[in-house]
Amino acid sequence: MEKPAIAGGTPVRDKKFFYGHQYLDEADYQAVLGVLKSDALTCGPKITELEEKICRITGAKYAVAVSNGTAALHVACLAAGIGEGDEVITTPITFAASANCALYCGARPVFADIDEKTWNIDPESVRAHVTGRTKAVVAVDYTGQSTRLDELQKICREHKLVLITDGAHSMGTKYKGRPTGSIADMTTFSFHPVKTVTSGEGGAITTNDPALYQRLTLYKAHGITRDPSLMSRSPEGPWYYEQVELGYNYRMTDIQAALLISQLDKLDRFSRRRKEIVARYNEAFSRIPQVTVQEEIPESDTTRHLYVLRIKPEALTIDRKGFFDALGAENIVCNVHYIPTYYFPYYQKLGYRKGLCPKAEKLYDEILTLPLYYAMTDQDVEDVIRAVERIAAYYAR
Ligand SMILES: *Cc1c(COP(=O)(O)O)cnc(C)c1O
Repeated sequence: MEKPAIAGGTPVRDKKFFYGHQYLDEADYQAVLGVLKSDALTCGPKITELEEKICRITGAKYAVAVSNGTAALHVACLAAGIGEGDEVITTPITFAASANCALYCGARPVFADIDEKTWNIDPESVRAHVTGRTKAVVAVDYTGQSTRLDELQKICREHKLVLITDGAHSMGTKYKGRPTGSIADMTTFSFHPVKTVTSGEGGAITTNDPALYQRLTLYKAHGITRDPSLMSRSPEGPWYYEQVELGYNYRMTDIQAALLISQLDKLDRFSRRRKEIVARYNEAFSRIPQVTVQEEIPESDTTRHLYVLRIKPEALTIDRKGFFDALGAENIVCNVHYIPTYYFPYYQKLGYRKGLCPKAEKLYDEILTLPLYYAMTDQDVEDVIRAVERIAAYYAR
């Protein structure tokens, strides 16, 4: 049997490599340079061009570019009218921002448990957590896989809730043949460099509802309007505007927008390569009895942002930390997505306790995120597989 590096073998890789990395090319550099040499660094033509492009890609009627994915979630909650005393249901297996957006508005996040197989929010658990105070559901497309949107929409219609998809992972993913950005009441995106396409920092919200669109544009820019139909009286002159809500400065710059437009030109390529890598991983890991792969619902045609592998602790003599360290010794630097949000001290101070979502907590104990990004070579992929195989075999119980 091949000895893992941690047990004295030779590492699979001689240099460290990481779980994610952005991919930029000459077209991206030229796009940014073009804006730097133009008149408008922000609030210029690239923002409009980007918003139109996001509409074309997602099939949504409206798109609003913002400064990051967290700002996108915040303005989506504001546009949904979430405030003091409201409850917002979300999953704990996500980045903290998916719940923090409710807290920003004075509302209380309520955590629903996950589906054991897909690891996405379980619609039945969402239903069980609806109360008279529930205002919205923030459903996260975890790792890029679409949630069960039909079931979630049904629950939201029955209880008059706003459905927000946190699509930070799912740019390029389709549900029943439709891009995820056109289905929920609002879908938010993040363009942080670890995501499938990047603008350095950046985010967007898509919607088909003109009233939500109007509120999104207000809240992302100070609550200020130049639209006479929204003003308290007729404009005093061309300089005149009014602040009608308390909004924020969540604008994206044209520099970022130009980079993102150029990145989105490559989305199909990025998506195809990610699907190839995921297929190869799934094929290899399905044959290893000590690990489990994420199951997919047939409705989701997934562009995967993260590849999360689950170990079976009962079939191994090491735990997740042991597996993570063993991969590190092979120079494969993994990560863990995610620590359940309510484990954090800030949430504990608010009164949340361990035990809320048993399936999510068990998942967290057993997962690690393997490298997955566009520029990975076939050799990189095979190296990761070989490392997982030798560690699983060596520490098999
Ligand atoms: C990255 C991410 C966010 C936040 O996006 P930022 O652009 O970093 O603010 C929100 N939700 C999820 C699930 C994410 O992965």
